[in-house]
This record gives sequence, structure tokens and C-alpha cells, in this order.
Amino acid sequence: MENKNKNRSPFKNPLLIFLVISVIATIILNMIMLSVQTTNKQEIPYSEFLSMLEENKVDEVILQREQITIYEKYSGEDEASPEITSLMRFMGVDPQAVIERTKKNSRNVYYTGYIADDRLLKLLDEKGVQYSTPIQHQNPILDFFLTWILPLGVIYLLFFLLTRSMSKKMGGGGIMGIGQSNAKMYNIENATGITFADVAGQEEAKESLDEIVDYLHNPSKYIAIGAKQPKGALLVGPPGTGKTLLAKAVAGEAKVPFFSLSGSEFVEMFVGVGASRVRDLFKQAAAKAPCIVFIDEIDAIGKSRDNQLNSNDEREQTLNQLLSEMDGFDSSKGLVILAATNRPEVLDKALLRPGRFDRRIIVEKPDLKGREDILKVHIKNVKTEPDINLHEMALATSGAAGADLANMVNEAALRAVRCNRKTVTQEDLMEAVEVIIAGKEKKDRILSEQEKRIVSFHEVGHALATAVQKHTQPVHKITIVPRTMGSLGYTMQMPEEEEKYLMSKDEILDQITVFLAGRAAEELVFNTKTTGAANDIERATELVRNMITQYGMSDKFGMAALESIQNKYLDGRSVSNCSEETKTDIDKEIVRVLKECYDKAMNILKENRDALDEIAEFLISKETISGEQFMDIFNKVKEKRNTAEETTE
Ligand code: ADP
Ligand code: MG
Ligand code: ZN
Repeated sequence: MENKNKNRSPFKNPLLIFLVISVIATIILNMIMLSVQTTNKQEIPYSEFLSMLEENKVDEVILQREQITIYEKYSGEDEASPEITSLMRFMGVDPQAVIERTKKNSRNVYYTGYIADDRLLKLLDEKGVQYSTPIQHQNPILDFFLTWILPLGVIYLLFFLLTRSMSKKMGGGGIMGIGQSNAKMYNIENATGITFADVAGQEEAKESLDEIVDYLHNPSKYIAIGAKQPKGALLVGPPGTGKTLLAKAVAGEAKVPFFSLSGSEFVEMFVGVGASRVRDLFKQAAAKAPCIVFIDEIDAIGKSRDNQLNSNDEREQTLNQLLSEMDGFDSSKGLVILAATNRPEVLDKALLRPGRFDRRIIVEKPDLKGREDILKVHIKNVKTEPDINLHEMALATSGAAGADLANMVNEAALRAVRCNRKTVTQEDLMEAVEVIIAGKEKKDRILSEQEKRIVSFHEVGHALATAVQKHTQPVHKITIVPRTMGSLGYTMQMPEEEEKYLMSKDEILDQITVFLAGRAAEELVFNTKTTGAANDIERATELVRNMITQYGMSDKFGMAALESIQNKYLDGRSVSNCSEETKTDIDKEIVRVLKECYDKAMNILKENRDALDEIAEFLISKETISGEQFMDIFNKVKEKRNTAEETTE
């Protein structure tokens, strides 16, 4: 650690800073006191004082060692107005006393230098002026102490307490501890106890990390051939996919200590603190090598240094320190740095260059098989019935990350406890999926009869559009039991066997039609529009917009990328890349496509009005029906219709 004192200018020492601040504050304080003391006092020559005495203008005199303070006789108003006097009486104050006091306080005050003049006392007696001298109990040492040492000490103490309570929150140790950090800033686990077996469905990521594990086991093999191990690997992926878990598993597999800290913990309000923490962390880690240093949420410090509206000195210093430490350490000792982020695009290029985090390991959301594997890992911790079907659960949870799945298994176990059962059933698991997707059932919310009918027809509208069109996933369940997350009912679709990775234009259009069929049913049957369709409309519009602006599926705009996605691992907001005019055209095109799909949905429902009525009535009586029940009625109605048509022919 040769560069230990690199960033230490004298002003980096907090002790010194506070000392300087307290001294300055004390000086200012004294200056203010002085100016307060001398305000409203006017200096006059000694001779003028004497003539004032002669003219009987002086009321009172205070003789001091160095100066004489003169109070002139009050010469203003003598009486308060009757209103004020009565007001004072009303408030229980003696008006005379108040007037006396006011008079005394509003006398003009003068001062002049003290001259050893024996005429003075005689003259004062003669004119009947009240005079006195304050008792001199001031001693210069006490004086100095009161005006200089005491305020200095108080201010210093205040700072001390303030910073200590702050650094306590940060886990530091008082004013001396700032800038030196201590072990609490990061966690050290000598054995994480987590292995690759605990991380399911991330085979590619594990493969990439395997090499690091092997290297930590046996560095000499690599050194012998002259191969350098990468110093750092960056785990990139959406939240909850197991990045932190993977990092721990690497340490567990390699059986080395695991240093972990979160990027946001680095950046504090004192410039230089983060940098010294980085220094300290690497020093400790080097002492324990081979080991793994894991920096979670590295985007908190690793944000690109340029094009920032508000540049952050502290963060930049921390980042610079991190960069120089990464260059400084010798990877042959077996120190491996892992970092995780879900915003790789904001990271500083310097962090990603060869020799630093040059290896990027993508941790994606799991696919169908991955989800099943993750469920298997977590289901081990709960007692289940023998006949549970995790494949079905995996099918229903497309788009869920590992953390969601872990949460669902736990939710299922909680439900089993609520139902007073000793084991988790398949029903618990599927209900847990719905709780995570749509919220808890809200049995106490009573819908009016009419509302229930509308919701029922709305949902069956969705389901029919699904059943009639070719490119859709089958209906799994329809329900009109309200849920806590706002839905009054919903239609759950589920892929039959395989998960799809591609979506064609036809499939998207069919899906949009399904979304809009709910509203179409409302209009067809009740001739009304309800707020229940808001979410459908939002999702349909988003799909159409993406079709046009990102997927190049519009005849009008062709394959121009009109929008691009930022933060693809987070919420994925899209930013527009086109002119205002094009935006207007896009909006028009969206409206047109939506209208087309809506008309299609309306036609489907009109053609299947008999099925719509029958299934909706059935749903109202049952509240929840399965996909099979739905298809049964649908097929029966269709048959009936066909035979009826045949007979009329
Ligand atoms: P991230 O750091 O990517 O946001 P975490 O690693 O903190 O996600 O994951 C949170 C939890 O989710 C883990 O503790 C684990 O229980 C569960 N989990 C996530 N991914 C997986 C996975 N691939 N296999 C098993 N469990 C997982
Ligand atoms: Mg994490
Ligand atoms: Zn709907």
C-alpha cells in the first residue's frame, strides 16, 4: 500500500478542520458581542460631558476605570395615552411602573474617557446626579477564559457530539474514526455455507464462475502456465435473479472468506471517507487472500464520471481509489473481486476496461426449466404433499425471478399454516402464484349484483377472445373474486407445455384483441363502459406502441427504431428517438390499430353471444371456474349451434 497517504492534504484531517472552524466561530462571536455592547452609545468629549452636567441634562453616571457612561435625562413624552393606560390596567400591570421603566430604558446614552478630575465628584453631588461604579470582579484570566476558551470549547464539543452521533449511525467510531473506517463497514464471512447447488437455473453464469472457483482452489496451476486470472467479474441482471446469491456461492464453493459490502455504503457525506474505506477494505482482503471481495450495487459508486448534472466529489474519489486499488493488487495472491449491478449501462468505462471488471456475467431471469429448478431448491425447505407438480407452477410463473419464486413457496407454506395443515398442497402453491401476481383474495368485498354481472361478462369476454383466436395461450382459470391489488376479477392464461421466447406479430395482435375483449363485452351486453378496463387498455396500448416503435411491425413506419429502452434490467422505460411529428403519427397509428383490434374483439363476441351469455351466467353462480369447465361449455354451445344450423339448412 504505497499510496496510502495519497489523498491526504492537511484539510483532509477532520480534527484540524473542526479546530479552524471553532476558532473562526469564536472570533465572530466576540466581534458580535463587542458591537452589541457599543451600539446606541455615542462618544462625546469630556468637556461636553461637563457642560451637560452644568446644564442639568444628566440623569445618571457610571464611573468605570477606563470610561464614564452618561445617561441623559429623559426628554420625550411623559404620559401614555389613556387607551394604553386602561389596557395596561386591564392586563393587571401598573402603568406608572411601566412608564418609569420605559423612560429609563429610552434615555440617551453617551460615553467618554475617564480623566482623573477632582472637580467631577463635587459637581455631581452639587447637581444631585446619581453616580456609581460597578464592582470590579473581573480578572483578566477569567475574562480571557470567558470570551475565548469557553465558547471555543462549547463549539468544539458540539461538533464532536454531532459527528459522533452521525458516524455512529454509519458504524464508525467518533471523530477520530472518520476517514479510517472500521470493520463494521463490510461483512466478512469466513464461510458462506452456500454452494452452487443452492443456485438453480443459472447454468451459464455458474459455468463462467467455475473457472474463478478453480483458480481460487489452485492458483499455481494457472501461474505455472503464465495465465492471468481476471481480477474482477461483474454480475449483471434484473433484481432478484440471484446475483448476490451467486457471489456467495463462489466463496462457498472455493471455501474462501467472503468480504461483502454495498456500493451505497461507500458513499458518505464526508469527502475522502469512501476512498479510505476502499483502501482499508483492500488492505484487509489482501491479508486474508485468497478471498472474494463482493461489491453489491456497484452502480452507486461506479456511475460514469462524465455527463452528470451534479457531479459528486466523494463518489469520484471513491471510484478513483477503487480503480487504483484494482490496478494495484496482485491477482496471483488469489484476490477476486465480484460486483453486481442491474444498471450496467451507467457504469464508468474505466471500471470495465481489461484488467478490471472485464468479465461480464449475465444473470437472466430464469426460463421454464430454470424456474422449475429454483422451485425445487426452495421446496426442499418445506414439507409438501407427495403429489405436488412444480412443472405446472413453473408454467404459470413466466417472468418471475428467483426471489419471486422463493417468495411464492414461502407464501404457500404460510397458507398451509393458515388452513391448519401440516403439509403444503398443490393448491397452496397455485394460490400463492396468484397472490404474488394479483394480490390476496378479498372475500369481504361485496360487489353489487349488477357489478358482479358486468365483471363476469368482462372476464368471459377475455376468455372467449382467447379461445376463438389461434395465436393465444389457453385459459387456465377465470374468477370474479376481488383481489387486494385492485382487480375485481381476472382471466389467467397459461402456456400448455413450452415456454415461448419469440412472439410473432399475429400473436401480439391476438393478445391485444384479448385485452380489449373485456371492454367489448361490457359494451355489447350492457351498453356501458366501466373503469374495470383501465389496466387492459394500458397493457394493450403498450403492446401496440412497442410493436410500432421497437419491433418494426408496422407497415407505416417499417423497421425504424423509434424508441429505445433504458435500464433494461429495471423497469425498462423507453425513450423516444424520433421527431415530434413522427410521435404524433405514432399516436395516430396506435389509435388505429387499437380500433381495429377492438372491432375484431367485438365481432368475436357477437358471433359467440350464446356462449358468452351461458358461460357468464355460470361464472356468476360459481365465482371461479377452471379452463376446462370453460372449454366444456364453449364446445357444447358450439355444437348446439352447429346442429341448429344444420337443421335449418
Ligand atoms: P439479486 O442480488 O440478484 O437481486 P439475490 O441473490 O439477493 O438477488 O436473491 C434473493 C433471493 O432469491 C435469494 O436469497 C434466493 O432465496 C432467491 N433466489 C434468487 N435467484 C435464485 C436462484 N437462481 N436459485 C435459487 N434461489 C434464488
Ligand atoms: Mg443483490
Ligand atoms: Zn379485463
